Amino acid sequence: MNDATESSGGSRKKRILTGDNATGRLHLGHYAGSLENRVKLQDEYETFVIIADLHAFAYPKYVSDPEKIARSVFDVTIANLAVGMDPSKVCFFAESSVTEIYKLGVIFSMLVSHNRALRNPTLKEEIRDKNLGDKFSMGFVNFPLLQAADILGVKADLVPVGEDQLPHIELAREIVRKFNKTYGEVFKEPEPLVGKVSRLVGTDGNTKMSKSLDNAIYLNEPEESLKRKVMGMYTDPNRIHPTDPGTVEGNPVFIYHDTFNSNEQEVEDLKQLYREGRVGDVEVKEKLFYALNTFLEPIRERYNHYESRLEDVREILVSGKNKAQEEVRKTMSEVENKMKLDLI
Ligand code: ATP
Ligand code: MG
Repeated sequence: MNDATESSGGSRKKRILTGDNATGRLHLGHYAGSLENRVKLQDEYETFVIIADLHAFAYPKYVSDPEKIARSVFDVTIANLAVGMDPSKVCFFAESSVTEIYKLGVIFSMLVSHNRALRNPTLKEEIRDKNLGDKFSMGFVNFPLLQAADILGVKADLVPVGEDQLPHIELAREIVRKFNKTYGEVFKEPEPLVGKVSRLVGTDGNTKMSKSLDNAIYLNEPEESLKRKVMGMYTDPNRIHPTDPGTVEGNPVFIYHDTFNSNEQEVEDLKQLYREGRVGDVEVKEKLFYALNTFLEPIRERYNHYESRLEDVREILVSGKNKAQEEVRKTMSEVENKMKLDLI
């Protein structure tokens, strides 16, 4: 029995539920925060990847742009496939296609106070970074509750996520305790799993690379714009001449080198030269461009492969819907039974 096999309840593999908002293409931050772990664990765990298209409507920027959200469902699925998720093993589904999730989300909203829902550092950060002011919707406040329904609907054990999602997983765990205590045992508390880089900085030095902040390098980034983005990256702001000793720690260019350059010796050498003021930013960036391009080349190729086969991608989502729906329906019938919502 391996780590990912249930000890009680027989031989079912442990489950992963992970996913992304359908709010645009995926980038290097998604890879470092979550996708890399998904790829690694897809054999060990029964994996569900949700493309959160309903969640996308929580943001003013997308609420009136269903075209963009629909297109993103494909972009996000393709990015997952392009980094090496295997559709013959992994269940990909669009959140909106499994309507039982909506029901579960409504039930969870009865178990969480409005104050508690707002007491969430990630929501506060998004209100600030996305300039939501006091105009955010009920759906935005409800965002983590719907996410709890995504996770608990398939009874996931593990949730690979970036650091910003930890407060949402904590809320899902609270909901499990509250539900089980109130109505009887149905759920188990899911565990988060944060990636190699819990929060990858943006090219502009902002603490988070985000598709909403225009500071991202995408997984299908063409070579030309990759070069432009890397050469324009924020580095050590106090360094004016290449002969000035530079700071490596917290410098986005070196963070990317550490994360994506497989030539560790080169990275160590560059760091030393940079600290001693013996290498210019331009050379460090050129080497980074080369490393990132090498990393992205096979991903780009698979991306283009699926991009020209959207019908295949749709089929993956249709069969994923069927499988996910079956699982969430089983969960819902337990929930409805415990809550006596199954009388009629
Ligand atoms: P949005 O601005 O629409 O919320 P996003 O870029 O934050 O988009 P999500 O779809 O919310 O992307 O995130 C999907 C997953 O990727 C989450 O687990 C999130 O924590 C992770 N993630 C996103 N950006 C980063 C980042 N810069 N570093 C590490 N992980 C990240
Ligand atoms: Mg996000």
